[in-house]
Amino acid sequence: MQLSHDYASLPEAFSKQPALPPLPPQPPHLLMLNTPWAEHLQISPDWLATQDGIVFLTRGTLVGHPNPIAMAYAGHQFGHFVPSLGDGRAVLVGEVTAQDGLKHDLHLKGWGPTPFSRNGDGKAALGPVLREVLISEAMAALGIPTTRSLAASLTGDTVYRDTPLPGAVLARTARSHVRTGTFQYFAARQDYAALTALTDHVTARLYPEHNDAPNKALALLEAVIRKQAKLIAQWMHVGFIHGVMNTDNMSIAGETIDYGPCAFLDSYDPEACFSFIDRGKRYAYAQQPNVALWNLGRFAECLLPLIHHDDAQAVEQATELLKTFDTLFAEHYLEGWRTKLGLSGEQPSDTTLIAQFLELLHKQKLDFTQSFRTLNAVAHANDPAAFLALCSDSTSAQTWLENWQRRLATESISQGERFKMMQNTNPCIIPRNHLVEDAINAAYDGDLSRFKTLREALRTPFADHDKAFTRPPQPEECIANTFCG
Ligand code: AMP
Ligand code: MG
Ligand code: MG
Repeated sequence: MQLSHDYASLPEAFSKQPALPPLPPQPPHLLMLNTPWAEHLQISPDWLATQDGIVFLTRGTLVGHPNPIAMAYAGHQFGHFVPSLGDGRAVLVGEVTAQDGLKHDLHLKGWGPTPFSRNGDGKAALGPVLREVLISEAMAALGIPTTRSLAASLTGDTVYRDTPLPGAVLARTARSHVRTGTFQYFAARQDYAALTALTDHVTARLYPEHNDAPNKALALLEAVIRKQAKLIAQWMHVGFIHGVMNTDNMSIAGETIDYGPCAFLDSYDPEACFSFIDRGKRYAYAQQPNVALWNLGRFAECLLPLIHHDDAQAVEQATELLKTFDTLFAEHYLEGWRTKLGLSGEQPSDTTLIAQFLELLHKQKLDFTQSFRTLNAVAHANDPAAFLALCSDSTSAQTWLENWQRRLATESISQGERFKMMQNTNPCIIPRNHLVEDAINAAYDGDLSRFKTLREALRTPFADHDKAFTRPPQPEECIANTFCG
């Protein structure tokens, strides 16, 4: 393993040094090891499973290396600025270099209290850790940029929430844990030297093609706008709702980060919002692009003093870039829906065809994932029966299907090519809220088998899977609210 400490070498203000937590009453126990990911990161899975490996995965200590650090950051939480948040229950161990030469931060979530913990205990319960494993790894398999779950372990400690729960640690990796909130931390303190150092750090790590850009801050802003526009479109196409798009949860690397009360759409509803704490539905499904742009505005504000010494010039240049977000997002958004409908070419009327399909799903309360997957079969067999069987109003469905068939007839790709494209775009299985909940509840009862089989199935989302995993929830199984860990 190549373990470096680039972030820890940044100036003092970037992080705080927490004291190692006391040894837990019970020895730690490895629950899940992501062997392919460990191999990609050039960390021996065999070593990770040893006593030293488990200590590394839970306490972050390794002979000859400094102890983990807590990263400083600020953030807008539900629109309100908090000048100091920071890693309150996670620590940065260092960076590991993967087979392709790219560095990934190794973070331990649920590690214990840090100087940023405020009133929190710095710990994580088993449930939220397993939840993050299932969803982050499902996102990766769906081809969506995300932090990765390397390992999950029981700490051997008890965590007190409403009841005593087993404590757990998630070893997760990210191309970088720098967030919009990291920039906000220094901007709020008017620490321009730190902002420059941070810009240099993330550019070198994530966007090295801009290392010599004449205006690095502007180049970084442009790169992040591009990444996030694409990411949010990808979320929308699988019905993912992040749930807490606070600026401290927006990654400069453009990865999905901080899986808290996130959820997937069951039936299609633009206003769907599962997070219990999001009373104003600020982070509802269809709000996500608007929120991303709002967050990017906050990011741009941090960079203004680096973009130009003249305020007005800086604002003008940043605004020009922010204006590109809508177009970039719309391009990815449209392209994704086209692919999901099996369209390889482009026609102006596609926007209407897509909107009408989504409206049909909404009106008839159809399951988002199942509906798209069923269209694959319809296109393949040239038989609408499978889709019509899902609909309560088959007349309007029939009309849409006929429009779609007419549109497909104008395409140049073969039926076989179309089927392949749709099969690889419309997943059969996603981490459905009720399945995730069920796996977690079973794990609390000491049965990890459901977690394991679900995780295994989620590795191949585009393959066909057992109905038990793919069917929508029965009304009584629907999860109405998700909660923060
Ligand atoms: P999140 O909602 O996970 O994005 O976290 C928001 C802030 O609360 C971050 O600064 C976290 O480090 C902190 N935080 C969340 N849970 C805990 C906890 N159990 N103990 C200490 N800090 C926490
Ligand atoms: Mg420090
Ligand atoms: Mg967070």
